[in-house]
Amino acid sequence: SRGLGDVYKRQGYQHVITPHIGQKELYITSGHYEKYGKDSFRPISTPNEGEEFMLKPMNCPHHFQIFLEKPRSYKELPLRIAENATVYRFEKTGELNGLLRVRSLTQDDTHTFIRQSQITEEINRILDFAETTYKTFGFKDYEARISTRDKKHFEKYLGNEKVWDKAEKALISAAKQRKMNYFIGEGEAAFYGPKIDIMVKDALDRTWQLTTVQLDFVQPENFNLNYINEQGKEERVVVLHIAIFGSVERFLAILIEQYGGAFPLWLAPVQVVVLPLGEKHLKFSQKVLEILKANQIRAEIWENESVSKRIRNFEIQKIPYALVIGDKELKNKTVAIRDRDKGDLGEISLAKLLEKLNKEIKSKK
Ligand code: ZN
Repeated sequence: SRGLGDVYKRQGYQHVITPHIGQKELYITSGHYEKYGKDSFRPISTPNEGEEFMLKPMNCPHHFQIFLEKPRSYKELPLRIAENATVYRFEKTGELNGLLRVRSLTQDDTHTFIRQSQITEEINRILDFAETTYKTFGFKDYEARISTRDKKHFEKYLGNEKVWDKAEKALISAAKQRKMNYFIGEGEAAFYGPKIDIMVKDALDRTWQLTTVQLDFVQPENFNLNYINEQGKEERVVVLHIAIFGSVERFLAILIEQYGGAFPLWLAPVQVVVLPLGEKHLKFSQKVLEILKANQIRAEIWENESVSKRIRNFEIQKIPYALVIGDKELKNKTVAIRDRDKGDLGEISLAKLLEKLNKEIKSKK
């Protein structure tokens, strides 16, 4: 999760941490109480009469409070806030589903505060970021659903039609410019704004919805989110709610499917296991482990079971590499490297090993 924070910082976001609870009134103002309140965890009362806090169902109001901390100038826009934030939803027992549907989920949630004139540029910037992310994780096939308003019934929506027109056109032209596959979901927009949802296909051709880019003209009204323009006058911002991964737990479930559990080296939770053949090889094996860890390699040492059982576990757990250490390796100060896919690769020096691992990690393959 710290890694994800760094990615967002490089993209120009302020990375924040907001509390897990918030005053009930915040979610009443945002409308989330109405949406999630009744079916959610019970509010937490305090010694103060009538005061209640909730486990946060959404982060938006928290990030709005950060925006509202001081007067904002047009010079600060776009102002981007990101958080890996845990939110809570009381899903019914029958609706829980592994990592796909949980009661406590972590979103890579961002809110960007922009002027109307910045919509197109910001949408393009975020689609760049999203597409780079998909490539990194090996998703090659994806398409966008652009949800627009029902033109015959504009009374259902908030905001004015001119702004909606502009916003929808911005979403569509961004998808066109990038030659992204897309389709229009007419009448599918939320009452507060149009959106793009991006669906990716995994290695088994199943479709998953990942990224959501949601334009919002309404929360700025609810929370009075303004900036001071060049003439010293107050103007409303537009809010973009964006999550590239959505729920990190769900994304993890999708990744497990995508790779069939055989993660590439850069992603594998355990990258290397060290397997000493006997007791006399233990000391050198521990030294190898220390060197790996000092070089930021996620490594473990397995010493307790028979060699064949440990090799079997290494295969079942789909760990990228095992380093076997016996008499010869101890004498030569080397390791015998075993590749998850290619099997035994023979003896290698520690310097060569580190070079090989680092090169593979960098390539993200
Ligand atoms: Zn939001």
